[in-house]
Amino acid sequence: MDFAHGSVLSLTLTFAAWFFFFFCYQGMGITLGYHRLLTHKSFKVPAWLRYLLVSGGYLNLMGGPVNWVGVHRLHHQTSDTEGDPHSPLFGFKHSLYEWMFTMDARQTQSELHKQVPDLLQDKILCWFGIDHCIEQAHLCLAFNILYRCLILLLFGYVALFANLIASVIVFWSPQLVNAVCHVERFGYRLFDTRDESRNVWFIALLSHGEGWHNNHHAIPRSARHGMMWWEFDPSYVMICIMEKLGLATDVIRPTDAAMRQKRSQDQPTREDALVGVAD
Ligand SMILES: [Zn+2]
Ligand SMILES: [Zn+2]
Repeated sequence: MDFAHGSVLSLTLTFAAWFFFFFCYQGMGITLGYHRLLTHKSFKVPAWLRYLLVSGGYLNLMGGPVNWVGVHRLHHQTSDTEGDPHSPLFGFKHSLYEWMFTMDARQTQSELHKQVPDLLQDKILCWFGIDHCIEQAHLCLAFNILYRCLILLLFGYVALFANLIASVIVFWSPQLVNAVCHVERFGYRLFDTRDESRNVWFIALLSHGEGWHNNHHAIPRSARHGMMWWEFDPSYVMICIMEKLGLATDVIRPTDAAMRQKRSQDQPTREDALVGVAD
């Protein structure tokens, strides 16, 4: 009996440890790698760490980094207007997942390339695809299957099971940011932005802090999305840890005065959201 309890406890702890590892590696691959680092250039890291962070996003079936960044920059420029690739104004299912299957019609290769002149300089990132064709999706799928085969072979069924559960949560969390954090009945707004973006706590918990989405639309280049004391932002905590370790530099933070000014007056123009392209 004690032996059975011991083995159940050991299995549970092993599962929890693997789950936590994959939830952080793949989840922050999206939030730190694809989003705050590549798209918005909110901080800088050495090349090896940049690719390590980005790999976590790719291995969560997010498609190539160039594509992801091109779509997300378009979202900031056109939020909740006709050109927005995944606004819930065009339906919940559309904003949750249907938009992914229509991107080749919504953003041509030359439009995509105009969004990402900086990333097109990076041959390694470009190798994973520079347009919305189906081949880059197949390549990503193949890498994702291979990655999980390796997990099974090297670490066994418990690690694979933990990975699959973490992957499902991590895959849907940015889709839920798109579908929930632009809908009026959820959350609240600290900034009077020109879009419908909202801060939604339960999406922030699922998505390592990305649910503080109104803050992010107001100040897109900020490394910190949770602006209030209750807005827990694990991705920003990780950036601060990397900074303390000397791994992250040039971390962009709005000052308290800048935030007060932002809240009291303006709404950022859509051009303000042309983030990280020029520098
Ligand atoms: Zn948004
Ligand atoms: Zn963004």
